[in-house]
Amino acid sequence: MLPRVVYIAGYGRSGSTALDIALGQAPGIFSCGELAQLFLEGAIPSASCSCGRTYLSCQQWGGIMSRLGGRLARLDTTRRFIEGRPRARKVLVARARAREYTAVWRMILGDLASQGAHTIVDSSKTARHNAFRPAFLVRELGVDVKVLHLVRTWAGLKASVSRGSNRHLSSQADDPPFPVPRAWLGQRLADWQASRLRNLVGADGYMRVSHDELQNSPAACLLEIGRFINFDMSSVADRVRRAELLGVGHLVGGNRLRNEGAIRLGTPAAKTGPDIRPTVEGKISI
Ligand SMILES: [Zn+2]
Repeated sequence: MLPRVVYIAGYGRSGSTALDIALGQAPGIFSCGELAQLFLEGAIPSASCSCGRTYLSCQQWGGIMSRLGGRLARLDTTRRFIEGRPRARKVLVARARAREYTAVWRMILGDLASQGAHTIVDSSKTARHNAFRPAFLVRELGVDVKVLHLVRTWAGLKASVSRGSNRHLSSQADDPPFPVPRAWLGQRLADWQASRLRNLVGADGYMRVSHDELQNSPAACLLEIGRFINFDMSSVADRVRRAELLGVGHLVGGNRLRNEGAIRLGTPAAKTGPDIRPTVEGKISI
């Protein structure tokens, strides 16, 4: 049986990676990061999982990666049509290729289930090339999907964007031009698209989560999410209340938080500013 998917939807810079990591502290819940990036990253031999190992040598992804081999890079274009442009897909993606794509995801999720995952967290969010990913998971794989739609105020997002992009902050690349107008438009489109997921999964499968609430009252927020996904999150909430470090698992993609080894939520250091800040231990808080 395939694991249930908790899908974190919405625009970037809304705390999705931190929420993904926090949910992954619960037994049987695997924090997987931006799973939509798995094909792209997995095809690059030097790309690494958040555990620091290459995907091929990672304990979570290594087995399935060695089985899939070179199919990943070939299927990434297919992914962009199936998860990003379903209308064009019918014309441009051969049926056999679409079936292969579905079969590969069945293998990946089946492999995670065999490792003990009853639920996985996929924080691919809502971008151009994966806006229809939750629909793919529900309709083609038949998995139970719970949508957490992370929302952030424009003021908070604007302040975050003004500090530079994740890529820039991790010294990987220069910022793209016009970051603030791009973020304004991107957030509106992503929130509109993510809101429509309620039609896909029904009112019982969709929950809006406020970035500010997650930042200011993370324990209460996690308990509320636990009620929504029907899973007792009290032990994780207790750890968050004690400001314990939360270990980062095996995340794909995501922002620089994933490379910190451990994070903590809602510490006093974080409350001094509207975004991610380092604590005295050099770890990261949201
Ligand atoms: Zn790993």
